[in-house]
Amino acid sequence: MTTRSRILTGDTPSGRLHLGHWVGSLENRVRLQDDYDCFFLLANMHAFTTRADKPEDIRRDTLDIVKDWLAAGIDPERSTLVLQTEVPAIAELSWFFAMLTPFNRVMRNPTLKTEIELKDLGEHYSFGFPLYTVGQCADILAFRAALVPVGEDQVAHIEMCREVARRFNATYCGVDPKTEDPEHVKAGGLFPIPSALIGRIGRLTGTDGKNKMSKSLGNAILLTDTAKEIKTKMGALYTGRQTMTEPGDTDNALFQYVRAFIKDPARVAELEDRYKRGDNIGDGHVKVEVAAAIDALLAPMRERRAALEGKPGDDRVLEILRAHTTKANAVAEETLHAAKQAMGLDFGRRALGFGR
Ligand code: ATP
Ligand code: MG
Repeated sequence: MTTRSRILTGDTPSGRLHLGHWVGSLENRVRLQDDYDCFFLLANMHAFTTRADKPEDIRRDTLDIVKDWLAAGIDPERSTLVLQTEVPAIAELSWFFAMLTPFNRVMRNPTLKTEIELKDLGEHYSFGFPLYTVGQCADILAFRAALVPVGEDQVAHIEMCREVARRFNATYCGVDPKTEDPEHVKAGGLFPIPSALIGRIGRLTGTDGKNKMSKSLGNAILLTDTAKEIKTKMGALYTGRQTMTEPGDTDNALFQYVRAFIKDPARVAELEDRYKRGDNIGDGHVKVEVAAAIDALLAPMRERRAALEGKPGDDRVLEILRAHTTKANAVAEETLHAAKQAMGLDFGRRALGFGR
């Protein structure tokens, strides 16, 4: 057994991964694989909360996300991939945690409110939709993760998860509610209180220049985009600046991309300086340079991903998922059993298999 702290984070299969995922979370996941025991979750159950009528799309997106992960540098030899629907302990813990979470607390979650608005869900979202926020607490706590690498929009969800962990520890493990977060496990709590780890850019703006880059909003540069697609999407980014001599605002989306993707700090400083002064530098120039920098980042990922296309790629992904399901269940079942023991529900143990 390893003694390293655990990481749990993941993505919902609602489309392919994009640059926002990279700077917000994926880059940290790739970097931390040797330092933490890493679990990366495919939230395919949660994909059904808004697309219950599209099972084929969810299946396709699930396989695509695994391919994007592998192409980006997630190593299945070092990290464990978790397919949410094959880890029943997560669903069971979700029920218990739902009982520890006031309904109004869920509905006040600002990220949930924003999502309802942005995805235009009105009042017609499913009962399961707000429940996913509690489900996400179970994703994290089933693996007793210490660290959750995520983008800024997830902070409200992680805060809910921290509350649930504290409440469980206090209610069922006898932990004094005044105990400091880092002391919970030492004080007898089952769950460590997890922390969010925000990426280098917590919220990358989309190519609409306005909203968060998002799978569902059609404003994303995908990790699989070609050089040409990157150039076209960058070209469409509107800043409102008219001429090459007009002093520009480097707080705009274009310059967020400059700082995020152009590697040479001296070049970034030079571009910022000239843009601010309106020193004969057009948005077009900057966009071409940013597009080239993004392409340099994505080219090796595209190459690795090409080897995963089609049926052989699908077969390889399914093989990994099957093998990793066993590992993921070993950990999550252990947590569920300990949780049930704490709750006076230890009526015996069970063994899970995963057949074809
Ligand atoms: P959806 O539109 O379906 O909600 P999404 O693009 O927001 O999809 P998620 O699967 O919800 O993607 O997010 C996965 C992870 O990537 C989360 O940690 C989230 O914070 C992070 N992330 C997503 N978009 C961005 C972004 N634009 N900037 C920084 N981080 C992001
Ligand atoms: Mg999202």
